[in-house]
Amino acid sequence: MDRRDFLKIGAAGTGLLASGGIDALASPAETVKPSSPEVSADGYVREPARKIPVVASCDVLVVGAGPAGFAAALAAAREGSDVILLEKGGFLGGLWTGCAVLPLNCTMGLQNGEWKQVVYGISNELNSRLESMGMSIFSRRSPVVDPEATKYVMQLMLREAGVRVLYYVQAAAVTKSGDRIDSVIIESKSGRCAIKARTVVDASGDGDVFYWAGEPYRFVKHHIGAMWRIGNVKEDSDMKRGRTPIPGVRLMHTNGEYDQDGLDLFNLSRLTEKMRDYIWEKMESTRSIRGCEEAFVLDTPALVGVRVTRVLESRCDVGLDSVMESRSYDDVVGIAGVDIKIDYNGKSYKVEDRNAWQIPLRALLPKKTPNLIVAGRCFGYGEGITYDAREIGTCLVTGQAAGAAAAHAVAERSEIAAVDIAKLQASLRKQDVRI
Ligand SMILES: Cc1cc2nc3c(=O)[nH]c(=O)nc-3n(C[C@H](O)[C@H](O)[C@H](O)COP(=O)(O)OP(=O)(O)OC[C@H]3O[C@@H](n4cnc5c(N)ncnc54)[C@H](O)[C@@H]3O)c2cc1C
Repeated sequence: MDRRDFLKIGAAGTGLLASGGIDALASPAETVKPSSPEVSADGYVREPARKIPVVASCDVLVVGAGPAGFAAALAAAREGSDVILLEKGGFLGGLWTGCAVLPLNCTMGLQNGEWKQVVYGISNELNSRLESMGMSIFSRRSPVVDPEATKYVMQLMLREAGVRVLYYVQAAAVTKSGDRIDSVIIESKSGRCAIKARTVVDASGDGDVFYWAGEPYRFVKHHIGAMWRIGNVKEDSDMKRGRTPIPGVRLMHTNGEYDQDGLDLFNLSRLTEKMRDYIWEKMESTRSIRGCEEAFVLDTPALVGVRVTRVLESRCDVGLDSVMESRSYDDVVGIAGVDIKIDYNGKSYKVEDRNAWQIPLRALLPKKTPNLIVAGRCFGYGEGITYDAREIGTCLVTGQAAGAAAAHAVAERSEIAAVDIAKLQASLRKQDVRI
């Protein structure tokens, strides 16, 4: 979609604001005078108050274009909403494509005693398109995709659905009227602007929007690592792991450093350099493996591998008990698969012995903000299920549910928590979600 298409779609939907929206979007920086902050003796800088131009408006504003944000934007658009998707990088897929995290985990689980695929909907649709291009293979329990093909197919799917995507935009704050979010403030090369939205999906991975909205959360320090690809590995080499859809290209992985703060700018900068050093050092030792003598670093991650940071305290967090006891919810909006062995009540459950689990709408809902919903690795779940909750299959499921719920709230002119749940579930089933 070129800029003209983006604006046309906007004008057809809720659209850009009448106050010269097109010009404002083209060069909002011109409408804002740079401020001159003052440094005070207490070591703080105080910015003078300033006016922020409103450059667009929409029904559903999705912050973050990782797997969760992609699915949310697509699902909302397919439910008839006018959708804007904001992404601070220059590509779709978040960690999935930007950190070469290629195995689409948590799409399988036990259901009625049978080990099978349990995640369908957008996840299945995307993967089927990639398979038909030869850009997804199945390995162990998961599809493994090609990152560049995934970015491209995601782009096609969003364009087909009429989603407006804005890249190189960092959401930076929210404005509120009472408990409701009124607009999201964005920062970009075009300056500081605002986008008005009737509902907002927080798919930032780090819960940026619910944090600004003042919602409670727990903070998790996890290991921060990396995944990357190497090329020119001989097919009959002694490196048996890490196959990808492209012959000769293998996936590499490091857990990285444990107990890390994924929101600390200085720490992230340090780890970014450390991961790059590690990748090049590892290349040296990898070349000693038979069949890898001529291998080279194909790419390094565009995003350092932050696994978890803020996790929402939702209206109904999904805990280890709910998952292991296969709890059913009246407001179920998705079913996720499993990907790790779990010890529970004195018994050890292998992955293939574990049931698929339900996600209720309330696990995506913050406690106060009525027009905000959360998807992806920061929705409301308990510590014991961190691995299953943050995997890509689960992120696509929560994204699809969150987008559809946000669109229903717009259509019903209601709070997201008050949407007609039977209607929402029927819509999700139409979108091939198996609930
Ligand atoms: C090293 C590593 C290995 C992993 N291995 C696997 C694996 O093998 N299989 C698997 O299924 N999962 C794996 N995972 C987990 C999985 O990749 C992530 O949990 C998943 O991608 C999370 O999706 P998300 O959409 O919630 O967030 P993210 O993928 O983090 O996407 C969030 C997006 O939002 C954007 N964003 C963030 N803040 C803002 C903002 N303020 N304004 C605008 N844009 C913003 C980001 O740029 C990003 O594109 C791994 C993770 C890591 C780090």
